[in-house]
Amino acid sequence: MGQGPVLGIEATAHTASVGIVQPAEGGGVEILTNVFASYSPTEGGIHPREAANHHAESLPRLIREALAEAGVAPGDLEAVAFSQGPGLGPCRRTGASAARALALTIGRPLVGVNHCVAHLEVGRAVLGCQDPVLLYASGGNTQVIAYAAGRYRVFGETLDIGIGNMLDKLGREMGLPFPAGPTLERMALSGERFLPLPYSVKGMDVAYSGILTAALNLHSKGEPMDDLAMSVQETAFAMLVEVTERAMAHVGRDEVLLGGGVAANSRLREMATIMADERGARCFAPPPQLCVDNGAMIAVLGEMMLEVGATTPIEESGVMQRFRTDEVEVTWR
Ligand code: AMP
Ligand code: MG
Repeated sequence: MGQGPVLGIEATAHTASVGIVQPAEGGGVEILTNVFASYSPTEGGIHPREAANHHAESLPRLIREALAEAGVAPGDLEAVAFSQGPGLGPCRRTGASAARALALTIGRPLVGVNHCVAHLEVGRAVLGCQDPVLLYASGGNTQVIAYAAGRYRVFGETLDIGIGNMLDKLGREMGLPFPAGPTLERMALSGERFLPLPYSVKGMDVAYSGILTAALNLHSKGEPMDDLAMSVQETAFAMLVEVTERAMAHVGRDEVLLGGGVAANSRLREMATIMADERGARCFAPPPQLCVDNGAMIAVLGEMMLEVGATTPIEESGVMQRFRTDEVEVTWR
């Protein structure tokens, strides 16, 4: 078992993506392909039903594209992995249906994986870190996670909105296209004056709605957008890095791994690297294509789970609305 390629399907939010990986000679995995189609709302935030329709239209094409690009025949696949949760209901159901249909057609097992854990495992598989604290900063999720006693434990997380959602909502009010994170990153480079914003760290948790409200206020008062973008980034990222550092100290880890779309941000990568260097630790950041939601990370975790026989019977392949990181029994490491 676990010698052939595994296909992974991601469709929990605005991104539909299919990746194919294969066990590498001498351990680890090789990513054969990772293809994407992103739903971006013409106005406002993500509409779950519309996003799901987009994914339903895109997935058959993405699966064909991925197989062709990887040079893999459907019958050669060892298993089909999919993101079982957490995520937006209609989107996850669409991804699960596509996975079930493919697995049934080729007569191979399904592997339902936890989306957040996949962000972590892809970093371990590709970058070779051993036992990192994961700073997972994406649109809907913001968590600081580490492995302890058979589970990935959440040491800290956002008490309200995900950091990416905060950036996207701010950008929307500023008239920036979705997703706003990359645009704000560029604007922040020209920011000159730091505008104080609420720094909310509560124990090991963070909160972002206060920054959003305060930044929107400053925007309506006419403060320059570049200054705002820079100040929001500095404040929001410092909060994350503080909690991550504390988690590393508590659990005695000397590796930090970044994941999630916001981890594509160079300033966040720089701040996390400085923190790690100052502690004599190492910072690992996957290439942006493996930070954002992607099918390859689902395939990577699917491959690891397949190795230990952790497949998902069709009747248990329903999507899990609230599939928390620490609910997953980690049997593969
Ligand atoms: P994900 O949910 O993991 O696919 O990540 C999507 C989120 O990442 C969105 O909220 C984006 O605005 C955000 N994002 C993507 N690239 C960047 C960037 N360079 N800087 C900040 N946020 C980003
Ligand atoms: Mg994600």
